[in-house]
Amino acid sequence: MFNLILFGPPGSGKGTQSDKLVGKYGLIHLSTGNLLREEIAEKTPLGIEAKSLMDKGQLVPDEVVIGMIDSSLEHHKDAKGFLFDGFPRTIAQARALDKLLELKKTGINTVISLDVGEEELIQRLLNRGKTSGRSDDTDEIVIRKRFAVYNNETTPVAEYYKKARKFQSVKGEGTVDEIFETLCRVMDKKMKQ
Ligand code: ADP
Repeated sequence: MFNLILFGPPGSGKGTQSDKLVGKYGLIHLSTGNLLREEIAEKTPLGIEAKSLMDKGQLVPDEVVIGMIDSSLEHHKDAKGFLFDGFPRTIAQARALDKLLELKKTGINTVISLDVGEEELIQRLLNRGKTSGRSDDTDEIVIRKRFAVYNNETTPVAEYYKKARKFQSVKGEGTVDEIFETLCRVMDKKMKQ
């Protein structure tokens, strides 16, 4: 198995690059943001609870997203590997993910972070908000709250994987294809190791 975490702040291009990477490398794409938006669309109790937090730019409780990841891993027992997008976002989630993968006799191979400056990120999110219908992308106050949450709760996750020597950053500015090429170079190198 080859398991990748695509890491980076809101608007860094994780979703766009994930779609391209899973196409090329045959991994299963697990995006907690997408899974939560599916629950919201289906108006499940979980979705209704999650929506009120997401609309404020806050995180959904760890147990909820860990449970979603656990059942997704179970649904794809024969996968060649997974690409985690938007997960783990807290140290508790990172620890839980390590445990879940260990039970499956596998682990995280590498974490690649997309580096993009904050002003560029805000512009990208506000632009996406014009067409995506995502209520968390239209209000600059909510966007700034998401960055604050990212800085406080998610950047420690980078430290967690740096300590494990699994963390690498790439430039997340440029064209989608340029960034994809950089990511593929890192992937090809890591897959040979
Ligand atoms: P972005 O990366 O642009 O912030 P996502 O689609 O990954 O967008 O996430 C949207 C929202 O969903 C987050 O702001 C958060 O409220 C919730 N969410 C997604 N993933 C997680 C997670 N792993 N833990 C907690 N909340 C999450």
